[in-house]
Amino acid sequence: MPKALETVLEIDLSALTHNFNYLKSKLQPQTKFLAVVKAFAYGSDSVEIAKHLQKLNIDYFAVAYINEGIALRDAGITTPILVLHPQSINFKILIERCLEPSIYSPHVLNEFIKTAEALSQNNYPVHIKFNTGLNRLGFKENDIETIVSTLQKTSVVKVKSIFSHLVASEDANELDFSKLQIERFKTIAKIFEEKSGIKPWLHLCNTSGVINYPEAHFNMVRSGIGLYGFGNSAEEDKNLKPIASLKSVISQIHEIEKGETVGYNRAYTSKGHEKTATIPIGHADGISRIYGNENGYVFINGKKAPIIGNVCMDMIMVNITDINCKEGDEVIIFDATYTASNLAESAHTISYEILTAISQRVKRVFLPE
Ligand SMILES: *Cc1c(COP(=O)(O)O)cnc(C)c1O
Repeated sequence: MPKALETVLEIDLSALTHNFNYLKSKLQPQTKFLAVVKAFAYGSDSVEIAKHLQKLNIDYFAVAYINEGIALRDAGITTPILVLHPQSINFKILIERCLEPSIYSPHVLNEFIKTAEALSQNNYPVHIKFNTGLNRLGFKENDIETIVSTLQKTSVVKVKSIFSHLVASEDANELDFSKLQIERFKTIAKIFEEKSGIKPWLHLCNTSGVINYPEAHFNMVRSGIGLYGFGNSAEEDKNLKPIASLKSVISQIHEIEKGETVGYNRAYTSKGHEKTATIPIGHADGISRIYGNENGYVFINGKKAPIIGNVCMDMIMVNITDINCKEGDEVIIFDATYTASNLAESAHTISYEILTAISQRVKRVFLPE
């Protein structure tokens, strides 16, 4: 592949296909696969990712917010889209764009029914979210009675699925809690089915749930990070391929003498005759200031170049004293070898945050299959 001559996020669609097939191989043939493409498909471009997954016959998409769903519909995506965290103010447009809401509280249920009635809907698909321990969004088990009686008074909505979300599916130390959540979810589903007389789809697992809790796949699984190449464990990372590589280029090289400083607020002081390279990527592109002052590094011609001084909005400076390189050479911030997850460790964060922080200003380039 050609060397980067500017800052780009390279997306490898064949790695996406690989990850999809790998995760799918963990499922029963009848289990449905929902791809989570929220936050710009974890930074990689939701439209291109959704188009690719739609070709692979994905069953469902999920986004967090309504605008993210609208962007997919505008791009011609026809697969059903679950909106995980809609706000009632947007319900009209949600219905107009055939997006399916997660209904997570009595208030949201009533608001949605009001809007659906006003728009003369019939059997509009909704997904009921239950809180089984995360305490973020969702009904409680003892709300079932109210939900069912509310639903029985109207024909504008139809419950397509019931779902919940695991708190710590990647964490072996929390095995007991995950099992407790699975049991709570089963109880909720049973009571809901008994009281309502309907049998909606059930789904609980995110990527780590898919891997660690095969007994809890139910009718569908919801995977995000796994599709993008991370399994939240060293073992699973081997089976997946990171789809995104963040690359840049050396804009300028400086030679500095002992005592000279680099960057804003003179945060780095040269220890001798040193060489620095300026790279066109900064905190406005998603390289947090935490990586400054030698907490993070980039790779140039296979060698580690620490980020020195403070990260600027549009640039970083790195120490290349011991690296044989020239202006115009490629810079790797992360790729399939030194991954976003490795970079994340130096800032005590996780791959999810690195990937989703890469701003829209960074050009996305797609490697075809
Ligand atoms: C983001 C999200 C997912 C995807 O989780 P991954 O760990 O990325 O697979 C699944 N379900 C819900 C409710 C989410 O918010």
